[in-house]
Amino acid sequence: MSNDRARVKLQPGGDKRAMLGHPWIFSNELVMDSGAKALEPGAVVTVMRADGRPLGAAFFNPHSLIAARLLTRDADRAIDETFLHRRLERAFKLRERLIGAPYYRLVHAEADGIPGCVVDRFGDVVVVEPNAAGADRLVEPLVAALDRLLKPRAIVVSGDGPARTLEGLPPIHRLAKGTLDGAIELQEHGARFLADLAEGQKTGWFYDQRDNRLLAARFAQDADVLDLYSYSGGFGLQAARHGAKSVLSVDRSQAALDLARRAAALNGVAEKHATESAEAFEFLEQAGAAHRTFDLVMADPPAFVKSRKDFHQGGRAYRKLARLTAGRVRTGGFLFLASCSHHMPAEEFRAQVARGLHEAGRSGRILHATGAAPDHPVHPMLPESAYLKALLLQVD
Ligand code: SAH
Repeated sequence: MSNDRARVKLQPGGDKRAMLGHPWIFSNELVMDSGAKALEPGAVVTVMRADGRPLGAAFFNPHSLIAARLLTRDADRAIDETFLHRRLERAFKLRERLIGAPYYRLVHAEADGIPGCVVDRFGDVVVVEPNAAGADRLVEPLVAALDRLLKPRAIVVSGDGPARTLEGLPPIHRLAKGTLDGAIELQEHGARFLADLAEGQKTGWFYDQRDNRLLAARFAQDADVLDLYSYSGGFGLQAARHGAKSVLSVDRSQAALDLARRAAALNGVAEKHATESAEAFEFLEQAGAAHRTFDLVMADPPAFVKSRKDFHQGGRAYRKLARLTAGRVRTGGFLFLASCSHHMPAEEFRAQVARGLHEAGRSGRILHATGAAPDHPVHPMLPESAYLKALLLQVD
């Protein structure tokens, strides 16, 4: 081995999962001696097997349960801008094949070989989210490699999610290149949307639902549509473009609704689009009391299950959402429900939706059970990273 990187050693037998192709090594699988504990969070290390042979190069964080995230099985490979450029280029070529316009998730962490790192592309603006200490430490060469590959006019480095907290990282939001003035336009299956990426108001866009928005829109012809947790109009405006009679976007964020309204005008559907700033469950209770119904209801809430401990409470919230939304669907109409909770398995989500539907005194049938669009690929050994579940039902 020719490199002089720090080394961490696997416990005897600690390499079982890694030898099967798993990209993570947990702290209890490593010899966490004083040398390992003293390493900087995010250092690139060579992982050594108990028998002294090298396993590969990894990001290391002594403070995280996921202590090492493998970058390559080639222990001698330099982890530098060239390495990152190759990974980015592979991810880029895949997206160019998958998606017809330059608006997509360019890097989806482990599945694209850059562990703990997400990159979203908005045409000539790129947003980097380093969610693990290793990615955070390499952000400069990553930005340089992105700059070389795409020559964007602006690069934003941003992140404030729970993943950063678990890695001991503070929230960040800064411009690594260029300037931003106002909202950025993006496109999805012919629809135009707006996202505000400006410093201090990190919002962005949820590309994972791109294909589901089109799927739900197939049921929008002549429909009165309710888009709950609408954010900046993703589901509702795609439905409006596909022949909906009326679309109501409901969200508690007025800033998100303002962008939805501007995007409605960009798509020429402003006259049939309305927004309402409200808490979703309160809106549903009131709409129920007023016997207000719709032909197509979509609800794509934030994660109700934020950690394993609120699994039961979150499950009940999905059931309640299913019950209240099902009650607002006209006979023969359609209901789209999604869960982006990592800790909510697809089968449990389906079970809660089924119970909610029944509690609403309704029946129906599942037409589609889907997940995230393919620019959010899944590492084959990390099925839990397939966080997005969605069901499209017809309701009797
Ligand atoms: N469906 C959207 C993404 C939704 S993200 C899309 O297709 O892009 C979740 C949204 O729910 C955010 O816009 C947030 O402002 C909103 N939200 C969170 N809690 C809410 C609540 N209790 N009531 C209404 N909206 C809420």
